[in-house]
Amino acid sequence: MIVMKFGGTSVGDTARVRQVAAIIEAQPTPRAVVVSAATGVTNMLLDAARAAAVDGDELAAKLAAEIRSRHLEIAAAIGDDQERAAAVAALDQLHAAFDEALANVARAGDLSARNADRIVATGEKAMSILLAATLRSLGTPAVHVWADRVIATDNRHGNARPDRVQTRELASQEVRPHLNAGYTVVFTGFIGRAPDGSTTTLGRGGSDYSATLLGAALDADEVQIWTDVPGVLSADPRQVPDARVVPGISYDEAQELAHFGAKVLHPRTIRPAVSLGIPVRILSTFLPDKPGTLVTRDAPEDSVKAVTALNNLLLLTIDVPELEDLAAASAAVFGALHGDRIEVVAASQASSRRRMTYVVDATGHGSCSRVKQRMVAALEDAEVDAEVGCEEDVALVAAVGAGVAAAPQTLSQFLSVLGRVGVPVLSTNQQHSNVALTVAIPGRDAARAVLAVHDAFIRPQPASARSRRPRRSDMLAESLRVG
Ligand code: ADP
Ligand code: ASP
Ligand code: MG
Repeated sequence: MIVMKFGGTSVGDTARVRQVAAIIEAQPTPRAVVVSAATGVTNMLLDAARAAAVDGDELAAKLAAEIRSRHLEIAAAIGDDQERAAAVAALDQLHAAFDEALANVARAGDLSARNADRIVATGEKAMSILLAATLRSLGTPAVHVWADRVIATDNRHGNARPDRVQTRELASQEVRPHLNAGYTVVFTGFIGRAPDGSTTTLGRGGSDYSATLLGAALDADEVQIWTDVPGVLSADPRQVPDARVVPGISYDEAQELAHFGAKVLHPRTIRPAVSLGIPVRILSTFLPDKPGTLVTRDAPEDSVKAVTALNNLLLLTIDVPELEDLAAASAAVFGALHGDRIEVVAASQASSRRRMTYVVDATGHGSCSRVKQRMVAALEDAEVDAEVGCEEDVALVAAVGAGVAAAPQTLSQFLSVLGRVGVPVLSTNQQHSNVALTVAIPGRDAARAVLAVHDAFIRPQPASARSRRPRRSDMLAESLRVG
């Protein structure tokens, strides 16, 4: 069986929902489909919830009405009268529950993560109703299933962690029988179920992760991620217009790419596929005949396949006066970061072994000075003498590809490219995975750095493949190439 996941842009409006239905119908059964909320709806739901919490009832009501009309517009295009009426009735119920949740938030004057999850799930739930009804009206037996009955998670609302064993059991009860009966199951991405039965979410962009979780729970033969680009590209096409499709990448490479900012895959997406060796394919809803990118255990080896940047990071430095204090200082700092659930994206040690550098994602934890204060307090508690530094607005640029870290010349080439375009390097990190090379740089230079590194390491496509004459910028890029 296959799992097909469609992201927000793929189901953004009536025409797109129809296009998605056609793509689904062209695939063999049994098949489960994972859907995101229509593009923009998750943000609108969150804005409405936040407004309700701070006396912004009018704004909340306006946003709720807009979301409702987006859903009703898609429902209006369902061809079959009965299906359309049933979908509208189901949406009415869903929106009534959403309105009630908003009223609760307004009364409490506070938005808990638990209430936010309940509210934000409305987007995926509505889309599952709409797509299943669209499929049925086209003659394809389909049923929607909500993941807050299936994807078992812990209770970390907003960023819940799944329990794969329990999810497998629930999927065999709640999803498998529909597949066996010949139905296409339309499943909500992004959401899960806490041990107390409340709705959780897997973090923004988490529907990709839902797809592989469901795929692993059902022993899928393949998971397909259908999106608005024709595969994993050699860079974010919004930053590098000449980025090209990478036909094959390994699980390791895909994980590093997602970890270091390639938004096309949620960072945790690949993990469930790895243990069962399930191939993951990234495909375009708008160019469905293109082969896309295939992610498997082994993939063609290439020095650098893609360049990414992760922005809005903090760079923490810990300096100790004596070599032997470094382990104790690191233990205190790691403990504090872990306690605050601040993710360490990269860590490196100075050759003098008296400085540790941590690049951290402290989104939601306040400014540099606040994070620094926490680290200073942790070091004081541990009675370690150390100095803490913190730099804001840092980006991590990563060159990803099997063997990249093993090739000794790659790091020097990487640094020389950055030097040539005048981007200062704050720290480097040659990873043991042999799959990624990362450098921390000032955030303001990230876009420039990605372009320069891409130009230097990714071979341009032959002019014939692009069916146009090489542009001056390509020739310039070629003349700057290294290696
Ligand atoms: P969806 O709504 O389908 O989940 P996303 O917006 O989350 O889609 O992810 C797709 C987007 O990821 C693309 O439109 C592209 O702008 C961005 N992106 C960033 N880096 C890459 C990359 N290396 N390859 C492909 N897309 C990328
Ligand atoms: N709708 C959710 C979000 O916008 C999940 C997803 O799109 O993957 O974050
Ligand atoms: Mg996404």
